[in-house]
Amino acid sequence: MRLNHGDTLMKFDRQLPIYNWLYPLKGQETETIRFRDAHTNFDATPIRSRGLYFHIPFCETICTFCMLNRGLGAEGDEAIEKYTQALIKEIRIKATWPEITAVPPRVIWFGGGTPSILTPDQIRRIGRAIRESFDLSRLEEWTIEMEVKSVTAEKAAAFKEIGVTKARLGLQTFDPRYRKLFNITATLDGTYEAVKILGEHFKYRSFDILYGMHGQTMRDFAEDVQKAIELGTESCEFYPINHLVTQNSLHTGYQGARLPALPYVDKMAMSIFANKYLRQAGFRLYNGHGYARLENPEQESDFVSRRYSNKYHEYCWANWDDDLIGFGASSVSQSLDWTVMNDESRTGYTKNLLDNDDIKVKVTRADHVPYERGLVLQLPYHGKLAKSRIDWDRIPGEVTERFGELLAEGMFVDKGDEYAITELGWTWYVNMMYYMSPRADQKVLDEFVERRSANQGITDGDRTMIPLQIAA
Ligand code: SF4
Repeated sequence: MRLNHGDTLMKFDRQLPIYNWLYPLKGQETETIRFRDAHTNFDATPIRSRGLYFHIPFCETICTFCMLNRGLGAEGDEAIEKYTQALIKEIRIKATWPEITAVPPRVIWFGGGTPSILTPDQIRRIGRAIRESFDLSRLEEWTIEMEVKSVTAEKAAAFKEIGVTKARLGLQTFDPRYRKLFNITATLDGTYEAVKILGEHFKYRSFDILYGMHGQTMRDFAEDVQKAIELGTESCEFYPINHLVTQNSLHTGYQGARLPALPYVDKMAMSIFANKYLRQAGFRLYNGHGYARLENPEQESDFVSRRYSNKYHEYCWANWDDDLIGFGASSVSQSLDWTVMNDESRTGYTKNLLDNDDIKVKVTRADHVPYERGLVLQLPYHGKLAKSRIDWDRIPGEVTERFGELLAEGMFVDKGDEYAITELGWTWYVNMMYYMSPRADQKVLDEFVERRSANQGITDGDRTMIPLQIAA
């Protein structure tokens, strides 16, 4: 990837086709470390704040754009009940380890899969286990991901009762053509009803919209943006669809409908358009792809607002001393130089916990504590980073050098006590995360992109951003 210097919107010669990943990527896999040892290796002393993630890997239907760890399930299934028991067991076990309880969580996130597939009783039992196991006195946000078909007033009440503050719906698109290609079976009437129910229970509601699908026109996208605004929710997140990690069946559908892949320049144009459109409607960006509806938006002087945040994402695109502890099958705990992934098999996870109080884990230890993570991930994604949180002496020279280049190109700006992203920088925030990563981590990403691109069933657009060589 080449950085283009000078006065051009096209600051890079190509676009990275993926936009989120764990960091650090480079490290050694350690197969000998078991569940308990993996977590008790965490050193909580330098950790400033912590997030907890709970994975519910069951969905009523499977969407074709989704490659998350989940499988089919239906409310009331025995497998979901057993999984609930296993999850509660993991919570109770980890709560006996001081390394896990030493830092009270600031955020909790229930993701999946579909957490709203749980019954009200299961929701209350998991909630009770969490409340009895962790000090929630510093909790600022508790978010639950929901799928329209399983939203009911009774479940919303149960989530509210255990402490959930934010509800998030996967909406994706209003366009019937793409809803069909995505295998989204909820009706739009059901969606509007779910949004209403959630509004009666939670102060904050958010939803996701995808864009950049094959054959999508700017007009199609404008309709989605306008309908998203009209839903009246407090925030919405717009993601360019990540075709490299979608299912082949989606691409078979595209081919059947004769929909050509969009070049990445078109996707970039869509994100710039969405920003202008949403700003005009009173929204402001609060991270790389999230928009919040603000009161008096004209009083917001920062390009990326600090008046609203998806606080859980502060633990995904995190600084080095903020960590995340995962619970449930395939969930990831990432603390300093350690990354621990729980058993990816739902049945293996459940059985091993219920029978043996144990979990099979995959453990990776990075070459060093990622002191540079704030610069590499947090600044491009969240749009700001306090200088007091940057330990320059411990950041690899190659990272500071490339940060300096981006600063000189006007993609970040020095605001005295912090660095902030500019509008130009935001246009390229994904590329900047890649560009500032150490070469060893870039290599891991390159290999991943190459591997996925070799999948003959996947079609993706041209990643070249401009067909000209820009003079240095
Ligand atoms: S997008 Fe959500 S509902 Fe659809 S398959 Fe993935 S996790 Fe399940």
